[in-house]
Amino acid sequence: MAVAIAADAKASEVACDRQRSGRAINTVSLAASVVQRGQPPVRGGQPPRTTIAAMAASGIEAYHKDVARLAPFPREGKAMRVKECILTGLLAAGMSLGLAACGQAGGTNAPATDANPPAEQAANNTGLSTSEQEAFYSTPITDEIFARIKGKSFKDDCTLPREDLRYLHVLHKDKDGNVHEGEMIVNQHIAEDVLDILRELYKNGYPIEKIRLVDEYDADDERSMEDNNSSSFNFRFISHTNRISNHGLGLAVDINTLYNPYTKVVDGERIIEPITGEPYLDRDASFDYKIEKGDLCYTLFIEHGFEWGGEWTDRKDYQHFAIPDEKIAEWYPNNVK
Ligand SMILES: [Zn+2]
Repeated sequence: MAVAIAADAKASEVACDRQRSGRAINTVSLAASVVQRGQPPVRGGQPPRTTIAAMAASGIEAYHKDVARLAPFPREGKAMRVKECILTGLLAAGMSLGLAACGQAGGTNAPATDANPPAEQAANNTGLSTSEQEAFYSTPITDEIFARIKGKSFKDDCTLPREDLRYLHVLHKDKDGNVHEGEMIVNQHIAEDVLDILRELYKNGYPIEKIRLVDEYDADDERSMEDNNSSSFNFRFISHTNRISNHGLGLAVDINTLYNPYTKVVDGERIIEPITGEPYLDRDASFDYKIEKGDLCYTLFIEHGFEWGGEWTDRKDYQHFAIPDEKIAEWYPNNVK
């Protein structure tokens, strides 16, 4: 049985590679890392069969459930997204292992009953299924990930060591409750905090539309923000200095950026980023994806030691949660004004 899964996952990888136009990501390794929470993907490796088998034995119901919810994941752009490839691999694994079990349960759509609850849900009390929990993980910046960010968010003049960064894989829900996979790169100092925050937001259905690497927008902040993308690391110096910005350190996180724009008045002229966020400067208006003081997103970031740009007085950055400068000075004493 395990052999069949590995074969299916491999077939999925090949299919994804074909559509991915050469993007250097090892899908099987990433899929394997989903079931090995906290361990970095093994480059070029096969999924650990014992783990896959255990996963399938305990998580078949969840795969059907998750895949059903994940089905609306948007297909866009020139290539099948890596996230979909991962899903396809998991789906292939879950489906091929699950067929026999589903037959016993009365069909692929047989709901779980109290008499026969999914084993994985009984195994934890976090409110998330095991497969959901395992979708939240952090890894160092592998060569595959680095290939995606080099020359983009990890610019050629980047002075931040690659080792200081972490890749996060998460789930998030949009305003309609659809589940999406997300990717974010942050500083290692806040990796676990951001993972905890995003997990909690997911658990509570706090809507976040997109969590993609800014590299998918060629590290163009404006494009990323106009697309309402949530992200963190994008290397840059603060203008006219050799001091790295908070985002350049991966120590700031922007959430639902279109609906929570940045604004400042300079010489009587109002700056708005993204420019298409202007309608959402009216913070008394009601609209989707708005971050408000006291809401869950705000509360979690504050609890984890961040400050919110929506509370600044000389400017407003409603999307922006950042580690305070004093703390950053402890971690990066040479990155001073
Ligand atoms: Zn920001």
